[in-house]
Amino acid sequence: MTIAEALRSVRARIGAAAQAAGRDAEAVRLVAVSKTHPASAVREAYEAGQRDFGENYVQELLQKAEELADLPDLRWHLIGHLQRNKAKLVAPLLSLLHTVDSVELARELDKRLAASASPGTLPVLVEVSIAGEEQKHGLAPEHLAELLQGIEALPRLALHGLMCVPPLTEDPAGALPHFQRLARLRDEHGGASRLPELSMGMTHDLEQAVAAGATLVRVGTAIFGARPAALR
Ligand SMILES: *Cc1c(COP(=O)(O)O)cnc(C)c1O
Repeated sequence: MTIAEALRSVRARIGAAAQAAGRDAEAVRLVAVSKTHPASAVREAYEAGQRDFGENYVQELLQKAEELADLPDLRWHLIGHLQRNKAKLVAPLLSLLHTVDSVELARELDKRLAASASPGTLPVLVEVSIAGEEQKHGLAPEHLAELLQGIEALPRLALHGLMCVPPLTEDPAGALPHFQRLARLRDEHGGASRLPELSMGMTHDLEQAVAAGATLVRVGTAIFGARPAALR
């Protein structure tokens, strides 16, 4: 299957899931996750009409952004954990940062943006550790109110919503309660007017995410093929 064909099939999955949930497919944006795949694959997807791309690692994003600098309306999303000391490098490049999980990171981003030449604000999502315990990144739900207020107080960040990466379950249905929990948290913290975006759902569970209200699904494998297992 070519990348263009794969994109069509993923868009069809999103469309069918949206229809089943009584939602408008236009309300679900596809972020093509290109980590570990070369810039040429991103270009191929771009030529097939895809504009939003997600990367997990700062260095890799910087390299691809440079190679693809001739594609001006390509939108980069950082969907992996961002270390504070790398904030400066990527902040001006990003269209959306999905993984703010501390007020320290938010403040650092704000400071770096204020000091940079780029005007405007950086749209961000707060990554919530929806299953707690074993998750490495993401904010515990009980601290959400504080971080949301902290972000809103920063002039160079724009709060757009919430993101989660639930623990991988063999059966995609296992992800549904986690996605529903993120949607509930959104409702408890101001609803869609304050938090319009819900970033959730990947290759194997995008249907469950769309059913639960995802506005951004992050899909890699179904578009670009399998990655080496060590580089998940
Ligand atoms: C890698 C990754 C994805 C894409 O996963 P696939 O299963 O390949 O679709 C989505 N979100 C995050 C946070 C990821 O790290």
